[in-house]
Amino acid sequence: MTKETEADLSGTTPRRRPRPDIVEIGGRKLQPSTLMMGHGYDPMLSEGSLKPPIFLTSTFVFESAAAGKRHFEGVTGKRPGGAEGLVYSRFNGPDQEILEHRLGVWEEAEDALSFSSGMAAIATMLLALVKPGDTIVHSAPLYAATETLIGKILGRFGVQWLDFPAGASPAEISAVLGRAKDAGRVPLIYLESPANPTNALVDIEAVVAARDAIFGVGPDRPPIVIDNTFLGPLWQKPLRHGAELVLYSLTKYAGGHSDLVAGGVVGAKTVLDPIRAMRNTIGTITDPHSAWMLLRSLETLELRMSRAGENAAKVCAFLRDHPKVERVGYLGFLEEGSRQADIFRRHCTGAGSTFSLYLKGGETESFAFLDALKIAKLAVSLGGTETLASHPAGMTHLSVPDARKAALGITDNLVRISIGVEDADDLVADFDQALKAV
Ligand SMILES: *Cc1c(COP(=O)(O)O)cnc(C)c1O
Repeated sequence: MTKETEADLSGTTPRRRPRPDIVEIGGRKLQPSTLMMGHGYDPMLSEGSLKPPIFLTSTFVFESAAAGKRHFEGVTGKRPGGAEGLVYSRFNGPDQEILEHRLGVWEEAEDALSFSSGMAAIATMLLALVKPGDTIVHSAPLYAATETLIGKILGRFGVQWLDFPAGASPAEISAVLGRAKDAGRVPLIYLESPANPTNALVDIEAVVAARDAIFGVGPDRPPIVIDNTFLGPLWQKPLRHGAELVLYSLTKYAGGHSDLVAGGVVGAKTVLDPIRAMRNTIGTITDPHSAWMLLRSLETLELRMSRAGENAAKVCAFLRDHPKVERVGYLGFLEEGSRQADIFRRHCTGAGSTFSLYLKGGETESFAFLDALKIAKLAVSLGGTETLASHPAGMTHLSVPDARKAALGITDNLVRISIGVEDADDLVADFDQALKAV
């Protein structure tokens, strides 16, 4: 949003020059955790309100007919880069624009868009970039709804796909990209890293190198899009490794309190422009209230994620040595010298707080453990302040065919855990007593 329009919106406030955003002091570039408190918002344009108001309005008043026309040129894509001013709440609003400014900060992205859910972000991106006859290349496995969208729903419109396993070598990635190029147009390369529930990391740099070698570096090469919900925006910043777009379910760590559903996409402006136009057409933008909640959440993002990460390290250290535990699939335990450890060292700054616990036994032992937990809640989702535990084989991945489940390591003794910001020793006590019930 231009600051002029924010001034126009505040009604009683006379038009005046907005205070420019302060992004550095004495040559020191301010960090995201500082910028989350005020970036993109000038209180003096909203009656001095410290926090941005929630703008509950469906439409915005133009200052003149000519301004209305200019804004529509931006909305319809006649002029690239989006509207200069606010028009109608299906296209944008002040809370969403402030949110988008702040989302972009974490990865120094050129631009950002917010959506009503993570799946709305993914679906809008795909609708904007994909055409009948195209072949999407993706890493596997993907979030189940993403896999349904690409494999089944886009399939109805004549879109094909080819995949490679998340941990694939550069040679395997190149081979799949080569086959896709021979099959026709490749609209995008879609990654998810770490994969759920295996936690296998994708080598983003290897995908970029293979893409550039096979498709060249011209404007028509397929953009690399990555779902960074599990480690971003704190522990993995894929734009730095050559991806063009980063997708988020903001429902998870960004929202962080398990009280909203939202999505986001950050990255290169040229790739985001057609996605914005598609969002304007179909109305998948986040609502003002959720956008405001996310502004609140982003203020504590680094605190929450850091604490959850520290807690997970303590809990995993306890679980690893427990006699009733077969294995802990946690990014902090990658085998020294392995390819996964190399990818982790190059791409990640933290091991996250979501991991896989393999108990000795099967469904009976998993269910006994889950039912005995007292602090950890039995629910799907992740990235909230509270610790959650679930059973992928019987819940999120119930409909996955048995052979594919086995190939992905989704076994009956697997419990998926997202660690929150509680006291780490309390969590250890809870897991300890729940393991006694197994
Ligand atoms: C939750 C999730 C999604 C979907 O997000 P919603 O906000 O539920 O629509 C996509 N990808 C990953 C990795 C997720 O965990």
